[in-house]
Order: sequence, then structure tokens, then C-alpha cells
Amino acid sequence: MPYYLMDEWEHSGRDDSDWYAVVYCSEEDTLQRYEIGSTRYANALPCNPPRIHRQIDGEWTEFVLEKPSEEILVKARACLVRDYLIGMIQKSEQDKIFRLKPERVGAGKKVVFTEDHKNQVKTCQTKPCEKCQGGYWINPRNSEDKRPCFTCKGAGVIKFDFQKAKVNDKVVWKKIALGTKAEIVSLRSYGKFYKSGYNQPNEHNTTALVRLEDGSEAFVPLSKLRLAEEMPTEEKIKKKAEAIASQGGAFYIPFATASMRF
Ligand SMILES: [Zn+2]
Repeated sequence: MPYYLMDEWEHSGRDDSDWYAVVYCSEEDTLQRYEIGSTRYANALPCNPPRIHRQIDGEWTEFVLEKPSEEILVKARACLVRDYLIGMIQKSEQDKIFRLKPERVGAGKKVVFTEDHKNQVKTCQTKPCEKCQGGYWINPRNSEDKRPCFTCKGAGVIKFDFQKAKVNDKVVWKKIALGTKAEIVSLRSYGKFYKSGYNQPNEHNTTALVRLEDGSEAFVPLSKLRLAEEMPTEEKIKKKAEAIASQGGAFYIPFATASMRF
């Protein structure tokens, strides 16, 4: 049974190094990951060419890894696309659209509500923003250089004196239905965040101020929003996977994460 070496890498830990290989087994048409050497054991440094050990009918058997021919490479790449890359790309596109990371969505992003939501209606006073004229800052040296004002976020007015709107002494709620379109105005994350800390701004501890199509604004947890984008078609995902598979190091991509966990 021939095994082909598709990629190999070293993972250096605090005290030890381990070497891994992605191997294509043409008989099973599968890609497999093997440890091909380690400094943890005596006489275990990788050989050249590397070899793997597989238990076959209860017997440990050694296989020397072969160099893939052009024909094998084509088959191994097809396997990589089919069994790994398509799924990885789908998952990352889904995460991009459905799990909004605060660092990736800012003011102006178009979003859609994924759940019904209700907001307390608030009233406020407004006054013209003192830092700009009509929401824009204009470069005094270049009148073409016009940017939304940082202070009022381009609104031109500053809101203050927020009060809960009440009718007959009852708080008024505005209902926003699933599927409503909006645009992000600003984000605010709640919690203590340290640069290397475990707790980081995410979709659950971040609230977005959004502007609905009727011009009104509402606060909503980022976890109740998705991007107003469609998933790429299967055809597009497959093309992207094939493009990745033809690059050097492509075989390493889906297999390296597993070895990082040690
Ligand atoms: Zn302003």
C-alpha cells in the first residue's frame, strides 16, 4: 500500500519538537496526518525520506513515504478540496456572516436582525454638533477631503437628555421584527478587556447602535445581527478551494491546527 508525502512541518514546544506529515493514501483516497519524529523519545528524529507506522492486522508495519507523481498530486489535491477545504471555507464564510466580531464590523456595515427584538423608546434633545458643519469635517487645505465627523458620527447633531418615553406612565417599546435591515452606527463592548486576556469583545458582550431604514435608531446585541450578505454559491466555494489546493503549503492548512493543541 503506497503512502505519499504531501507536506511536513515541525512543531516546537517548550521543551520538545515534534514533526508531522500529511500523507496521501491512494488506495483509500484519504489524507492522513502522522507524527514522523519527535525529540521526546530516543532515536525518534525524522528519517529521510520520512516513514510512518501503521497497525495492519495487529502488526505494526513501517512504510517509507514516497514522492507523489503528477498524477497522484492531482488525486491528492482533489481529496483535499472535497474532504477539507470546501468545509473549511463554508464554515469561515458562515462565521463571517452570522457571527459578527466587533473588530470586523464597524460604522456603516449593513446588517439584518436574525431575531425579533424590542427596544425601549427614548426621547432626547438635540443640538448642532460644535466640531463640524452638518456632520462633515472638511480639510482646510483640500476641500475635496470631506470625512464624517468623529464626534457626532456624521449626524451633524448631538443628542442629550435621554428619557424613557412613556404613555400613561408606561414605558413604550418599539418592536423590531426578524429580517429588518439596519446599518451599524457604533459599537460598545461591556466588560474588562486586557490585551492578552481571555475575555475579549465578542458578539455576546457587545451592543450595537443601529439605524433602521425609517431613520430611527435602536440598541441591539451584536449576536442578534448578521451581515446583509448572501453565502457564496457552492460553485464559488469550490473554485476558491481549488485555488488554495494548488498553492504550496495547502496540505498543511487543515492538519496543522490539530497538532497545535499539544
Ligand atoms: Zn460633528
